[in-house]
Amino acid sequence: MLIDSHCHLNYKGLVEDQDAILNRARARGVRGFVNISTRQSEWDAVIATAHRHTDVWASVGIHPHEADDHADLGAAVLAEATRDPRVVAIGETGLDYYYDHSDRQVQQALFRTHIGVARDTGLPLVIHTRDAEDDTLAILTDEMGKGAFPALIHCFTASANFGQAVLDLGLTISLSGIVTFKSAKDLAVFAAQIPEDRLLVETDAPFLAPVPHRGKVCEPAFVSDTLACVAGLRGVTVEALAETTGANFRTLFAKAAL
Ligand SMILES: [Zn+2]
Ligand SMILES: [Zn+2]
Repeated sequence: MLIDSHCHLNYKGLVEDQDAILNRARARGVRGFVNISTRQSEWDAVIATAHRHTDVWASVGIHPHEADDHADLGAAVLAEATRDPRVVAIGETGLDYYYDHSDRQVQQALFRTHIGVARDTGLPLVIHTRDAEDDTLAILTDEMGKGAFPALIHCFTASANFGQAVLDLGLTISLSGIVTFKSAKDLAVFAAQIPEDRLLVETDAPFLAPVPHRGKVCEPAFVSDTLACVAGLRGVTVEALAETTGANFRTLFAKAAL
């Protein structure tokens, strides 16, 4: 069961042609889509898309880029939004020190707010982290100590050391089209080492189109190209990897009853 566990169907580039884009993905065997939120003003539209399609689910959360605009967002507002039956995940949240679009303290505080809601609801936390390995790991370790919560690192591009550390904390790792890039040699090595029961694939569409689609607007159909690349790196068949990543999705995103 092939799933795109992270896409932005309501972003420019996809929203204009949502139905056709979903149909192209279905034609390539994609059986589910998680439509990810990045700011509160998007939540209604992101959730509405999930209500229109039985194979689309939604997340609610605030991207670290948008943290400054949501500094006062409380856990109660986030928790309330998760009560919609189509909302199956929290995020994307986390830390982005590469762009630093928001104050780092505000990013960290909001990250912890999201973690608390993931712990309380049992919904998986979708984590974005870029150039912020130390602080991401420190917060995850501290918060896991207060009580476990389900979580994944989306669009994983960090070091193997960081990857091993989050695996040790119980997290799942989701690979995007970046793993198909020739420049991503270390990531390709690490992709082969991720335990079978901790691996997901995603597009992060409309961004990061995988080989052989680089330069195009990324769309969920391309998750099959990333899956094929990762299957090759791991020496397994595409069918077997679709099966294991699909099973991992059903375990972690249990609210998306498939
Ligand atoms: Zn992200
Ligand atoms: Zn994203």
